[in-house]
Amino acid sequence: MGKGGKGTDAIGAGEGEEENMAAWLVAKNTLKIMPFKLPPLGPHDVRVRMKAVGICGSDVHYLREMRIAHFVVKEPMVIGHECAGVIEEVGTGVTHLAVGDRVALEPGISCWRCRHCKGGRYNLCDDMKFFATPPVHGSLAQQVVHPADLCFKLPDGVSLEEGAMCEPLSVGVHACRRAGVGPETAVLVMGAGPIGLVSLLAAKAFGAPRVVVVDVDPHRLSVASSLGADATVKVSTVAADVAAEVDRIKAAMGGAGDIDVSLDCAGFEKTVATALEATRPGGRVCLVGLGHNEMTVPLTSAAIREVDVVGIFRYKDTWPLCIEFLRSGKVDVKPLITHRFGFSQQDVEEAFEVSARGRDAIKVMFNL
Ligand SMILES: [Zn+2]
Ligand SMILES: [Zn+2]
Repeated sequence: MGKGGKGTDAIGAGEGEEENMAAWLVAKNTLKIMPFKLPPLGPHDVRVRMKAVGICGSDVHYLREMRIAHFVVKEPMVIGHECAGVIEEVGTGVTHLAVGDRVALEPGISCWRCRHCKGGRYNLCDDMKFFATPPVHGSLAQQVVHPADLCFKLPDGVSLEEGAMCEPLSVGVHACRRAGVGPETAVLVMGAGPIGLVSLLAAKAFGAPRVVVVDVDPHRLSVASSLGADATVKVSTVAADVAAEVDRIKAAMGGAGDIDVSLDCAGFEKTVATALEATRPGGRVCLVGLGHNEMTVPLTSAAIREVDVVGIFRYKDTWPLCIEFLRSGKVDVKPLITHRFGFSQQDVEEAFEVSARGRDAIKVMFNL
């Protein structure tokens, strides 16, 4: 690599320089490893050699449908957003990071000018540029250029894979903050998929004395137990079972059965209904899982018990706390990483198959 920081030519495009390869979503169910020309390195950017990239449910959804809600993939797009790597080049204005630093990347670049950004809720920025949300390219690539302020140095003892896990863990952390989870909060987690599990880990790290996890799948519930769930409840998909299941969930919570906070990480009508009905008067329900656009749920019975309902959109300002949770051992994300792949065309195809299939796959990780 020649002299860095000039920013005249895109890196990787010059003769004799290695080509930067990335996993591109080119059509439904079609990913191709192809060259990815990096943008020039700005004064406040860093160039990162990617080392660990996880597959998210949203990546799989884009692969299957080429869209999520109103975000439509119209042109080939580099996929991936859960990532960590090693800094190879820093812009002239970057002072807090150096070549060789291991960093976890926060994927969203907000404008810092709009009212949401100024108000401290930059995750709501209208002008957000987020990895692998069209038309913005993602980070399943050998190298990416990213703003230095969104790259967080990993301490010794926190691996690059754990660094990549800061992204999904951030969803759980933000949900716990929005719901006000603390040392006196009895928490119900609906759904033991990847987001339910990180929400469980986050709730325990925030000090929740008792967390009950609910799912339809006994294997997922056994994983939740091994990760620290105080109790689990297996439920059905039958809507008529809600009342009986709420009784079982309250019994599993123990004591008076009071549930202060429910985190719905599944996003089905039934799971939202269960969360609303199970939460104690004056408690809070946080809608974490992206479900259907419209749902029929028992809102009135929640309203007259003053159960607050809040939503979340991604996260904000979570990386420092996630890294501290990992460093201190308050959170262990390693058991969530169930599958690992390299970065060949075949690896990428297989990894997404494994992730989409679900079953015993929780987090599928690329090691680049
Ligand atoms: Zn994700
Ligand atoms: Zn903004």
